[in-house]
Amino acid sequence: MNLTDDEQKNFLYLEKGFAGEVQFDLYTEKIQSKPLILNDLLLKSNNSNLQIDSTLMFPKTIYLFEVKNFEGDHIYENGNFYTLNGKGKEIKNPLDQLKRIKFLFRQLLQNLGYRYNVEGYVVFINPEFNLYQSPKDEPIIYLSQLPRFMKKLNKLPCQLTKQDQALANKLVALHQTESPYTRIRPYKYEELKKGPTCKTCNSSSLSVCGKKLVCDDCGCEELVESAILRGVGELRLLFPDMKITTNIIFEWCGSAGSKKMIGRILKENLQKMGNKKYTYYE
Ligand SMILES: [Zn+2]
Repeated sequence: MNLTDDEQKNFLYLEKGFAGEVQFDLYTEKIQSKPLILNDLLLKSNNSNLQIDSTLMFPKTIYLFEVKNFEGDHIYENGNFYTLNGKGKEIKNPLDQLKRIKFLFRQLLQNLGYRYNVEGYVVFINPEFNLYQSPKDEPIIYLSQLPRFMKKLNKLPCQLTKQDQALANKLVALHQTESPYTRIRPYKYEELKKGPTCKTCNSSSLSVCGKKLVCDDCGCEELVESAILRGVGELRLLFPDMKITTNIIFEWCGSAGSKKMIGRILKENLQKMGNKKYTYYE
């Protein structure tokens, strides 16, 4: 759909933040001592929302990470962060965010009756980020320090107990799936652009080559069948109440395949409900 300038800006901001978190996860996945890793937890503590990008649970100590994908030159002055390009705008202080997260998380543990040390860090994951007058005594990890930090975590003893696992399970159970931060503006099927998109780069210029869809922009290939099933997934996510029919998928996936082919793919992969004109799939 067409986004307004503000929506587009917000979308890019969220996408960038997400990319940073994914980047950080690549590091934590490699820790050989295998702590419990909880990514992107969204919790409630004392009626406040608490979002933690990454949580690593070792016996006795829990590490919380606030991951920032900021780019470019910044400066730290009188306890605040400013961008250096353009107007030198003050930005939301990630150290304050971290303090708040730690405080709320400790309270949550206390209310649940657990005792752990809680350590927290702000991670600047972008290779093009620079902070002038960087404070030495604040819990900040720069990308250049991350390998060393991970080595340190790797050496920590990590014999997890049943109690550790129980707490992890509890945190997962308390995870809020409905994020109060996602404000998706209402949308209608009619206003959305139809047609298949590239699974890698989202481009809508695709060519059908035999059983494959080939992206004209990035060259990525995907089987038509998988593209159509991906389309079914998109519709189910966007419109959970919509009935999946051959006609709807034909329209949504545009030129990816013929009606006959789409009908066959739906029949083979989903459960057929109803009859004749009223056939749909679940
Ligand atoms: Zn592509």
